[in-house]
Amino acid sequence: MIPYSNLKAQYDTLAQDIDAAVRQVIESSQFVLGPAVAAFEQDFARYCDTAHAVGTSSGTSALHLALLACGVGPGDEVITVPFTFVATAAAIEYAGARPVFVDVDPVYYTMDPARVEAAITPRTKAIMPVHLYGQAADMDPLLDIARRHRLKVIEDACQAHGADYRGRRCGSIGDVACFSFYPGKNLGAFGEGGAAVTSDPGLADAMRARRSWGEHARYEHAMRGFNYRMDGLQGAVLGVKLRHLERWIEARRSRAAVYRRCLDGTGAVVPPERPDARHVDTVYVVRVAQRDAWTARLTEAGIETRVHYPTPIHLQPAYRDLGYHAGDFPVAEALAREVLSLPMFPELTEAQVETVADVFRSARAMARPPAIGS
Ligand SMILES: *Cc1c(COP(=O)(O)O)cnc(C)c1O
Repeated sequence: MIPYSNLKAQYDTLAQDIDAAVRQVIESSQFVLGPAVAAFEQDFARYCDTAHAVGTSSGTSALHLALLACGVGPGDEVITVPFTFVATAAAIEYAGARPVFVDVDPVYYTMDPARVEAAITPRTKAIMPVHLYGQAADMDPLLDIARRHRLKVIEDACQAHGADYRGRRCGSIGDVACFSFYPGKNLGAFGEGGAAVTSDPGLADAMRARRSWGEHARYEHAMRGFNYRMDGLQGAVLGVKLRHLERWIEARRSRAAVYRRCLDGTGAVVPPERPDARHVDTVYVVRVAQRDAWTARLTEAGIETRVHYPTPIHLQPAYRDLGYHAGDFPVAEALAREVLSLPMFPELTEAQVETVADVFRSARAMARPPAIGS
């Protein structure tokens, strides 16, 4: 049996350090924010190459705070992609604004900059590209469009801790960036957690205040806010785990290289990596024609898989009232039919990768998926 991920294996290698850090929080009883969170914020900001990090209760709450800090509110529009986790669009609506989708590009699966300007209206306030699966969106053309139209850029970096784009760290490229520490991300807490990072002190202050009820002194509320604070225990766990993130990323990348070699010539299209970028392989996604047949074969061989994501947001029943239709975003719709996430975690062995690839090699008669968008 090859699991899709194995969080217990990661804990086992760090048990002593994590247990000690957790114990320290318990002994100090600083269960909400506190020194463990403050220390992690400093370390994470440095890791992201930003001046500030604001620890939050989740990636979604970080996105919500980032949007509010950027001045997004009712009546505004925020341009994002339909091929992402639903939280990206949900956060825009939490801020009172409307998500406006543009399709992703067929090669790297991230926001297609060529489609953004046509989606800009007088109500557009921000662009929110998603660094999908651990790979940066094409940020330079997006920054250029944002500059010309005076829009804020908020990176949804919830899957891209440590990813690089043309020598810059994801998180340091836009005005603000948001990360999730949901256990399944490549830096995961022992529960929910997130962070917003920025080098703009005004944005950092605004996010910090709203994270904790807009309090400037105890029970004095300068602005309306939320309970979006990070737990002390999560800060402690993340502080220990962050020290190992680079090693884990390199392990993921080396497993991805084995997958790439072993899947060559089979029916699976391996994930593309941008030139001048570092993909961190948070999710390892191949494209296949006949996904159900491949999934059945893999399941039969004891291999767990997932699909990120089977339905683009614009076709989700919950978002029908946004007014989009099938056919509006053909690249996203084609990807949703073909993507298949294979086991990927730092402790995955090369032999396990080869076992997964063997399933593809034994059935290579199945067709390759057609090129998308051509
Ligand atoms: C996980 C994720 C989120 C939300 O993060 P949570 O911590 O689960 O709230 C947002 N956007 C993307 C792209 C994600 O993968």
